[in-house]
Amino acid sequence: MSIKSAKNLIRDLKKHGYQAYLVGGVVRDFLMKEKFSDIDITTNAKPFEVMKHFKAVPSGIKYGTVTILYDNLQFEVTTFRTDGPTSDFRHPDSVIYSDNVTDDVHRRDFTINGILMDEYQNIYDYVGGQKDIENKLIRAIGDPSTRFNEDALRILRALYFQSKLGFEIEENTKEAMLNNRHLIKELAMERVHKELIKILQGKHLKMAIQSIIDTKIHEVLPGLEKGILWVNKLEEMPFIDTFFALSFTLNKGIIPVEWTFSNVHRNKYLKASEVALNYPKEISDEALYQYGLEICLLANKVNFNLGKQKYLNRSIQDRFEKLPIKSELDLALTSQEIMNIKNKKAGIWLGKIKKEMITDILNKKVLNTKESLTKYVESKEV
Ligand code: ATP
Ligand code: MG
Repeated sequence: MSIKSAKNLIRDLKKHGYQAYLVGGVVRDFLMKEKFSDIDITTNAKPFEVMKHFKAVPSGIKYGTVTILYDNLQFEVTTFRTDGPTSDFRHPDSVIYSDNVTDDVHRRDFTINGILMDEYQNIYDYVGGQKDIENKLIRAIGDPSTRFNEDALRILRALYFQSKLGFEIEENTKEAMLNNRHLIKELAMERVHKELIKILQGKHLKMAIQSIIDTKIHEVLPGLEKGILWVNKLEEMPFIDTFFALSFTLNKGIIPVEWTFSNVHRNKYLKASEVALNYPKEISDEALYQYGLEICLLANKVNFNLGKQKYLNRSIQDRFEKLPIKSELDLALTSQEIMNIKNKKAGIWLGKIKKEMITDILNKKVLNTKESLTKYVESKEV
């Protein structure tokens, strides 16, 4: 991302007679000398005017946002606006365009996100954002409770910024998070899920977890309540997969349906908590065979964080490598050969004997060679 291109874009907007500023994360991160991810520009040009002068697509037109393609980069350009009332605790029912940038600043979420910067790097701070950056504080703009009632996602965004930046949440803002935590239940679960994942990826997750507990927000995150309380006691925060698998293990292996995990993720956490619950002491070779390496490593991380097992990453990998059989396809006898030995057509018996054979191979009762398995099949009643 290039701030130079953004400055040029602001110059171009001004040439067309509009006001324009950098705003939001880019200014905050610039002042903190951190890398920024995306660039937001705020302008009094209306979306259709922006689209007349620039190569742009209407990416969030309902809220006055278009994405400009400029110097081969994308910029989110939003028209100055004030937000009308909300009836869904998330989106304003209507937005009203404004010609006054201070209106636009005051509809934003936190002071650290409400600082403006022009193309000369002059700062315009109408909300005390610079002071809050200095003091490392996340503070709602205006009355926090009102702001969270307009959009409850802001409650989770406060936690996201804490986890990302390591700032404290200002006292009144935090108290309003506690008092309005039930509003999170009104949000689309997909949005909650996305924001939670952003929270869990932050460098300062430990602080955010503590705040979640202080504000009792864990109580409105189904199935994660025990997991959050547990990891709060750990020295080091687990990675995201371990966090979810651990939480659902403590939730008796149940993943509440509301969460919008992909099938792949849901299945991974389900299986890992199954292994973690069924093999609290040691993960057997049979489990390794049945669930595969990835799930077993995750289950071990869960049980390690639960204080039930040592961290056995290496040894589980070694054991997996050395498994005498990793799939049914590795059997030294084919189904046809088994049928020939028994002189019998395929049937339920075949699946059953293959299953027993695999278990006995894994438990080193029989070798996975043609010779041993032939004797093995011969000796079995079917
Ligand atoms: P990040 O580093 O994650 O991009 P950001 O502060 O840039 O952080 P964005 O989600 O990119 O966050 O939003 C850009 C800006 O838009 C914010 O800084 C804030 O000013 C405003 N904003 C975004 N979401 C909201 C919201 N839900 N309520 C009020 N203002 C918001
Ligand atoms: Mg941003």
